[in-house]
Amino acid sequence: MIKVSSQFDAGNIETISTENVRDIQLKIRKDRHSDFFQWFYFRVQNVAGQAVRMRILNAGDAAYVGGWDGYHVVASYDRKEWFRVSTTRYDQGELIIDHTPEQQSIYYAYFAPYSYEQHLDLLAAASQSDRCEILDIGTTLEGRDLNVLRIGDPTTAKYNLWVTARQHPGETMAEWFVEGMLARLLDLEDALAGQLLDDCVFWVVPNMNPDGSVLGHLRTNAAGVNLNREWQTPSLERSPEVFSVIEQIMPGEKAANMNPGGGGFGNPFERDIDRVVQDARNGLVSEKGAKMDYGVVFSDFKNLQVDAAATQALRAKHA
Ligand SMILES: [Zn+2]
Repeated sequence: MIKVSSQFDAGNIETISTENVRDIQLKIRKDRHSDFFQWFYFRVQNVAGQAVRMRILNAGDAAYVGGWDGYHVVASYDRKEWFRVSTTRYDQGELIIDHTPEQQSIYYAYFAPYSYEQHLDLLAAASQSDRCEILDIGTTLEGRDLNVLRIGDPTTAKYNLWVTARQHPGETMAEWFVEGMLARLLDLEDALAGQLLDDCVFWVVPNMNPDGSVLGHLRTNAAGVNLNREWQTPSLERSPEVFSVIEQIMPGEKAANMNPGGGGFGNPFERDIDRVVQDARNGLVSEKGAKMDYGVVFSDFKNLQVDAAATQALRAKHA
């Protein structure tokens, strides 16, 4: 008997039907008190060797339907190694996953999850470094701790750099990024990190939205509030996460906001050239960045003209 479940940290799915292994029908649950949804994370049992077809029926109403284009679900047997299921497709409002699991129990998710336990482990590990101070800055609506990691010496540094991740809790890759960044910043042998810390103090919030993360939300906190839209007027009642961070920024401090592009996966040198052009048009990729990061060469960047031959040659060199 096939079983689908999601009653665990960050779990999210509604089971409509599991009667037919070739037509398991599922729906993604909305973020609480909100209409946003797209994050999902569920376990399927008793399926070893069976050609399972799962349909997520409400994918077409998700927050960012464009995200399904070319998207492949991630899966794991041991919840450590996550792999893509390339036989995922978006078709007429449904996300359809065809997969033959090798084991009885398997997990599927929107992106590789980053659990609350992992989050606490990350804080605990960082706190063992002499470079890092963990500050208790507040509490979420559901009583979880809000912490910021201060790395570097605030008495000598010229610049304060803030890095906040996962205001939108479904964007788990942001916390994976923070994990990698911390590994470098706290590595005493890393020359670049040492140089940066001569001039800068890093203020790092690995997870801006622990409640939403545990609840399996895509975009909002426990009250259904989109934290991305709260920075002008945060409040302890609606958005203590943002409120607590802003309180740490000193009055009169100048702030600049810089966001990296967040799209795509896989080898950047195989990225669809039109997509790189689109990012360039939207100001997300510079001429230099397009060449260096994606192997796309422009003959006329202002008019977004790609030099096809040069692009092909550069990409071939990297292949
Ligand atoms: Zn976001």
